[in-house]
Amino acid sequence: MRLFACDNCDQVVHFDNRHCVRCNCRLGFLPDDLSMHALEPSSDDVWHLVARSDRQVRFCANAGLDICNWLIDDDEAGGFCIACRHNRLVPNTGSVDGVARWRRISQAQRHLFYSFLRWHLPHPDRQQDPTGGLVFDFLEDTVQSDGIVVPAMTGHEEGLIAIRAAEADDLTREQARASMNEPYRTLLGHFRHEAGHFVWNKLVRDRNGFEGFRAVFGDDRQDYSAALQTHYSNGAPLGWQESFISAYAASHPWEDFAECFAHCLHIVDTLETARAFGIATDPRGHHEMATEVDFNPYKAGSAKQLVDAWVPLSVAINAIQRSMGQPDSYPFILSLPVVAKLEYMLQLIQAAGVEPSQAAA
Ligand SMILES: [Zn+2]
Ligand SMILES: [Zn+2]
Ligand SMILES: [Zn+2]
Repeated sequence: MRLFACDNCDQVVHFDNRHCVRCNCRLGFLPDDLSMHALEPSSDDVWHLVARSDRQVRFCANAGLDICNWLIDDDEAGGFCIACRHNRLVPNTGSVDGVARWRRISQAQRHLFYSFLRWHLPHPDRQQDPTGGLVFDFLEDTVQSDGIVVPAMTGHEEGLIAIRAAEADDLTREQARASMNEPYRTLLGHFRHEAGHFVWNKLVRDRNGFEGFRAVFGDDRQDYSAALQTHYSNGAPLGWQESFISAYAASHPWEDFAECFAHCLHIVDTLETARAFGIATDPRGHHEMATEVDFNPYKAGSAKQLVDAWVPLSVAINAIQRSMGQPDSYPFILSLPVVAKLEYMLQLIQAAGVEPSQAAA
């Protein structure tokens, strides 16, 4: 993620800020230039950019509950920003906790969309693509008459991404993480993984890219539900670390792809953040662990370029986390077969990029 600057006073501004901490200007994110902007009121609910007074904008309809800080054009129909317009079912807003959950979910969702927009990845909605467009349901758990809580399921089916809203609560998510024996579980990770299934539909299946996909990930025609059943009964095969990024990735080629897509976003986004802060490492006496992100990770020439910068950086971040008594930020190992999968992923994503004007088509 980039760092931004307040148009009014040049203070450093972050992706999720609502106001500038120095000049107190209202801030909003404009998806068409992927930047935060300082705003001045024009008239009822209409604002203009401090830097460009002729640019009239409104906040996304979800700004009302302070869910979203993205902007739309003043004359844009629908009222929702380019991310929120994909929402179908949203979490309960009848309680303070419910609103707080949705706020955290929406933050992760917009972070996902930032990467989609950076790469110009297609993201048709259900009006543009009624059977396979991207749509989100944020699902509440149900409580049976005997009081037993039935968790909502996170998953993907034909462009519909379901996210269990309760995972926005730390307690619930950590319980799920521990019970599944996972090293990493976040809302952002869920969005990136499930979006990977959507991307597979659009960029591999719908473009008949099976041959290239199967050469790297294996044959996806093996029975998917049987494969998951085997994974949950027996766990991942011994030695999965040699060819897969996670145990779950070993369950089926579709899951492997979704995991690799998520990791591609983890790595590229975090490298961009490191670059924005000018973070470089150069451990004394260990120059092989030196790194500096001196390239735009969204335009990386190869997975090797990403990984060469990422490994030393992630090792340093993990060490800093341990110094604070926190778990590793990136508890994963990138084996050579995984780097080959990331190479395929990077090429697929970069070749798929369409110009912004066509991104919704
Ligand atoms: Zn300011
Ligand atoms: Zn929005
Ligand atoms: Zn999956």
